[in-house]
Amino acid sequence: PDPAPPRAIRELPDELISQIAAGEVVERPASVVRELVDNALDAGARNVLVKLMAGGVRSIVVEDDGCGIPVAQLPLALKRHATSKIASLNELESVATMGFRGEALAAIASVSEMAIASRTADAAHAHRLDARSGELGAAARSRGTSVEVRELFFATPARRKFLKTDATELAHCVEAVRRHALARPDVGFAIWHEGKLVDQWRPAAIEQRIGDVLGEDFIAESRAFEHSAGPLALTGRAGLPEAARSRADQQYVWVNGRYVRDKLISHAIRSAYEDVLHGQRQPSYVLFIEIAPELVDVNVHPTKIEVRFRDGRAIHQSVRRAFIDALAQSRADAAGVESA
Ligand code: ADP
Ligand code: MG
Repeated sequence: PDPAPPRAIRELPDELISQIAAGEVVERPASVVRELVDNALDAGARNVLVKLMAGGVRSIVVEDDGCGIPVAQLPLALKRHATSKIASLNELESVATMGFRGEALAAIASVSEMAIASRTADAAHAHRLDARSGELGAAARSRGTSVEVRELFFATPARRKFLKTDATELAHCVEAVRRHALARPDVGFAIWHEGKLVDQWRPAAIEQRIGDVLGEDFIAESRAFEHSAGPLALTGRAGLPEAARSRADQQYVWVNGRYVRDKLISHAIRSAYEDVLHGQRQPSYVLFIEIAPELVDVNVHPTKIEVRFRDGRAIHQSVRRAFIDALAQSRADAAGVESA
C-alpha cells in the first residue's frame, strides 16, 4: 500500500525541546546532583551542601557560598542555551569551567519543580525564583546560591518508573559527590539524606581527602605517582596488585578536574597491570590528568563524561608509563623493606 500522506513539519515548543534535552542530561537524581555541584564549583564555592529526600527523587537541594547570580539575571539562568561561561567559539575551545552549554538548569526545570534562590556580595538580600510560576520574591540567605529540585520526573511517569529504589538512587547521588570531592580537596562538601548527615569532607590536602573519601586502606594499598610529559601532567595513586578487587568500583579518572570515563585511558592503565593482575581482578586507582584545554575536546556528549584527545597515543603512552613506574617503585620499596 502507499505510505500515509506526510504529516506537517512543526517547530517544537521550547518546553518540549527542553524536555527532550533533559533525556540526555538528566537520567536520575545523581545527574541533577552532578550538574548542580558543577555549577557551585564554577561559581567559586568553598563549601557545598547537598540535601536529599527519598534518594533525591522527592527533593534535591544544593547550596553553595559562591558568587551568586544577580537578581536581574535569575530568569536567564533558567533559559536554554544561556550561560555566563563562554561567549565565543574561541572560549569554547579553551573552556576551563565544568559547564558551558547553558542547558542543565533549563533541562532540570523542565522535568521537576525547581526554584533557585541566590544572593550576590553587593545585594541587600537574596531573591528566589520559582521556575514553573515565574514568581520572583525576596528570600533570606547569605551570599551564594541554593537550587531546589522537587518531584523529579513528576510529569513524565514513564521515566520515573525507570528509577531504582531510594537506597540505590541515594548511592548514586553520594557517588556523584565523591567524584567532585576527590577532584576538589580545597572545597568542603556535606551530604544529608532525610535530615541525617551521610558524609562530610572538610577542605584538606589531596592525600588526606583521598583517604577521607576512599578510606585509609586505599592509601596504604596504593602508591602515589607524578609524571609529566610536554603539555601533560599526571598525578594520582596506583592501587597495588595485591589489593585488586573483584569489581571495578574504585577506578577514578579526571581530565582538568572533570570526572570522565574513557576507554583509551582505562586500556592504558589495564595494560600497565597486565603482568601483575590475573583474570578479572580489577585495580583501584585515582588519576588526575591536567592538559592544555585546547588539546582536549570536552564537547562530545551532553553530560561531558566523554572527552576526545587531540593526541590519544601520547596520552595512552604517558598514562601507561606513569602506572608502570608506580608499580615498579612499589615493588622496589617492598624489596628494600624485606632485605633491610
Ligand atoms: P552552564 O553551567 O553550562 O552555564 P547551567 O544551566 O548549568 O549552564 O547554568 C546557567 C547559568 O546560571 C550559569 O552559566 C551561571 O551563570 C548561572 N548559575 C547556575 N548555577 C549557579 C550557581 N550555583 N552559582 C552562580 N551561578 C550559577
Ligand atoms: Mg552547569
